[in-house]
Amino acid sequence: MNAISPNLTGRLIAREDVYGATNYKPLDVVLNRGEGVYVWDVEGKRYLDCLAAYSAVNQGHCHPKILAAMIEQAQKLTLTSRAFRNDQLPLFYEELCELTGSHMALPMNSGAEAVETALKTVRKWGYEVKGVPADRAEIIVCNENFHGRTLAVVGFSTDPQTKAGFGPFPKGFVNVPYGDAEAFEAAITENTVGFLVEPIQGEAGVIIPPAGYLKAVREICTRRNIVLILDEIQTGLGRTGKLLAEQHEGIEADVTLVGKALSGGFYPVSAMLSNTDVLGVLKPGDHGSTFGGNPLACAVARMAMKVLVEEGMIENGATVGDRLKASLSAIKHNSIREVRGRGLMLAVELHPEAGGARRICEALKTRGLLAKDTHGDTVRLSPPLVLTADQADWIAGEFEGALREVIG
Ligand SMILES: *Cc1c(COP(=O)(O)O)cnc(C)c1O
Repeated sequence: MNAISPNLTGRLIAREDVYGATNYKPLDVVLNRGEGVYVWDVEGKRYLDCLAAYSAVNQGHCHPKILAAMIEQAQKLTLTSRAFRNDQLPLFYEELCELTGSHMALPMNSGAEAVETALKTVRKWGYEVKGVPADRAEIIVCNENFHGRTLAVVGFSTDPQTKAGFGPFPKGFVNVPYGDAEAFEAAITENTVGFLVEPIQGEAGVIIPPAGYLKAVREICTRRNIVLILDEIQTGLGRTGKLLAEQHEGIEADVTLVGKALSGGFYPVSAMLSNTDVLGVLKPGDHGSTFGGNPLACAVARMAMKVLVEEGMIENGATVGDRLKASLSAIKHNSIREVRGRGLMLAVELHPEAGGARRICEALKTRGLLAKDTHGDTVRLSPPLVLTADQADWIAGEFEGALREVIG
């Protein structure tokens, strides 16, 4: 950085470093505009966004119809709290439940809140419906899980950094290996009320379980009277080429959690979806959120769901995702260990000798492509679902170029 006349990027980063908590280590790019698959930095340079805010902008940045819905609603009514009713919430409920084939929904804001809501509700179901003795309910979770950052959730993380220094944690969680239905069944006790699992583990580095895993755990949960809770906050809403990732195995969860792209990236909106059996246990006063289900959130989410379906984004994500995966797989470079993923939830894992994925992401950034390294050796690629075939080919080309530039 030029010390005498630092550019705008440098000045903004310096300001952020002085005043902001350093709980992230972002790439040094300062963005101020987005449209579709592209974002621009404050110097005017354009990038293709291959992170899409961890899949929260499946619909593309600043989708004009979602923007219009947001402005229109913001001019009318933004927040009533749930002490009163608003005219958007019933329509949001209806459209969300019809889209996902759910009986009931409970709106929250962040994904972590939707997870907490499910943990609380499924525990209550365990006591009131299944008959588990008071305070004995157990929920089984997977190793390498990611379900957010609240205390209960980080308490059952197996990533040491996620939980170090934050204890003590709530009890009642049991960890099992991901992708192993037998290990799951072996961990069940008479007090097991739920199984919380991601259909594909996103933050773990796009880990796809063996074929038949979700079907097997579905069958076990039904047979043992356990609530199957699928965290589709990242895999849902078209990311994997289907509306919900559970559809790849033709199953239906008892509880489904959605968030992120539910608002197309405009506003935090999440929801717990379930059958009446589970959400039906909640009585007035049991749970709540000041902002959950507010009219602005509902209007934004309604349009975010509408454009996802009407504009064929789910089908497009499936087709273009297959194409991108094939082009990445065709790259002949001995640093590539594996290309994996489903739909537009993709990852390229490099061999450890390649010297780390962060270097590749830095080179991609210079080439006008923003991607996120994860777990040291993996680059994840999850652009908005409005990506075109040409853009997919361009990504694969730049990826190969970055590998040759950095590694040789
Ligand atoms: C992002 C994510 C969450 C947490 O969502 P926040 O909105 O960040 O709280 C939970 N589960 C999964 C699978 C996620 O990818």
